[in-house]
Amino acid sequence: MIDLKQYEIWFVTGSQHLYGEEVLKKVASHAEEIAKNLDGSPFLPVRVSYKSVVTTPDQIYQVCQQANVEKQCIGLVVWMHTFSPAKMWIKGLSALQKPLAHFHTQFNTEIPWSDIDMDFMNENQSAHGGREFGFMTSRLRKNRKVIVGHWQEEEAQKKLGNWARVAAAWHVFQTTKVARFGDNMREVAVTEGDKVEAQMRFGFSVNGYGVGDLVRYVKEVSEKELAELIEVYEAQYLMHASLRKGGQHHASLLEAARIELGLRAFLEQGGFGAFTDTFEDLHGLRQLPGIASQRLMADGYGFGGEGDWKTAALLRAIKVMDTQLQGGSSFMEDYTYDFRKGRSRVLGAHMLEICPSIAASQPRCEVHPLSIGGKEDPVRLVFDVDSGPAINVSLIDMGNRFRLLVNEVEAILPEKELPKLPVARVLWDPKPDMSVAAAAWILAGGAHHTVFSKAITTEFIEDFAEMAGVELMVIDQNTVLRDFKDKLHWNEVYYHLFQNRM
Ligand code: MN
Repeated sequence: MIDLKQYEIWFVTGSQHLYGEEVLKKVASHAEEIAKNLDGSPFLPVRVSYKSVVTTPDQIYQVCQQANVEKQCIGLVVWMHTFSPAKMWIKGLSALQKPLAHFHTQFNTEIPWSDIDMDFMNENQSAHGGREFGFMTSRLRKNRKVIVGHWQEEEAQKKLGNWARVAAAWHVFQTTKVARFGDNMREVAVTEGDKVEAQMRFGFSVNGYGVGDLVRYVKEVSEKELAELIEVYEAQYLMHASLRKGGQHHASLLEAARIELGLRAFLEQGGFGAFTDTFEDLHGLRQLPGIASQRLMADGYGFGGEGDWKTAALLRAIKVMDTQLQGGSSFMEDYTYDFRKGRSRVLGAHMLEICPSIAASQPRCEVHPLSIGGKEDPVRLVFDVDSGPAINVSLIDMGNRFRLLVNEVEAILPEKELPKLPVARVLWDPKPDMSVAAAAWILAGGAHHTVFSKAITTEFIEDFAEMAGVELMVIDQNTVLRDFKDKLHWNEVYYHLFQNRM
């Protein structure tokens, strides 16, 4: 679990000298008050740090350069209290490498109808000051978030807070290491891709490790740590009788716990934030990691099955975004359909690896055969997922660019028990309906693997795509298939022309 309070966004206020000392003092005190208020807001998961009002090109350039090098700074929030001639911002914004949010707010709330005079007008100029700044940022073709709303309103604070979550994920992504145990599932296409381009575009690095490297860690697990972890399992999950001490499959549980401890030690010692494995390459491991992968995801690690490093990295980013939010996020796979006239739905699951952060109730700990891969029966957590809005997100490599794809869905509790299904699962109703959603997903080349999240919304992924400068396609309540196809075609041209723009 990551501590987001270690990060800061910098609150920078633009103005100019024309107004004189008196007004600039007021501008500074107002800006400080807003920054402090935001810093104390329950909707801001990171610190908000007040920076002096900037009134010259040099000051602007300096604060942008400082933001670039300060490790705890994850982005700039810029506000125009007054007019700030925007040619002053060219050098600074061109140099800025961290995410930018333009907070289009005003210190004052309602117009003081009977008292308003030209002094008041001079002091509260965000309405046109923000437009001058907006022109320059657009003229520079710079991606940024524009948040409009009064700074005391919950809605505006939430938008800024969610953007800060995404900026934190982006910050973490710059140093994220993904460990791949084995390669991917043989002949699978969508889990492949350009790892060099991914590192250039997103910052995370992907490197392979032999399963033997991991097995060495598993073998080093002490009996003491093993006994302690078994106690944790027993306290947190509904243990199947056969897995308990003296039970027929207790040895499987010990082996699963040993794998978790070995895997955890490997990831911790190497400073990894995500990992992949594949059931086709487990030499030396007696089980495919099931409960291990599930519990590591719950602790904030990204995971992708069958060598899927893109989904593993994406899940890591989303785990940073959803820190301490309700709902959870997991590796997911569209598994099987429930075809019904007018209300077809998708049952999502995986062989084992669904994160218990999305569980509706206490998971059951069970052991069953995997029926693929020829290894011993793996231990896994089995559960259902509660109803409510969710998204499925896929990151795919189109050859000349990356594409992020989102489908908004409504999770629903299964109407009936699934007594023979030995894996965690979630049923969802894709928007606008399954026939449009699945066709659009397939036309966009979306993977069968996704990140499923009940904690974040499409807007998080939209902000993330803009920080990365990659394409985003969204399938939601308003999706019309023919328009969606047009957008795919237009984007081919757009991203061909602008592929190096951020
Ligand atoms: Mn899979």
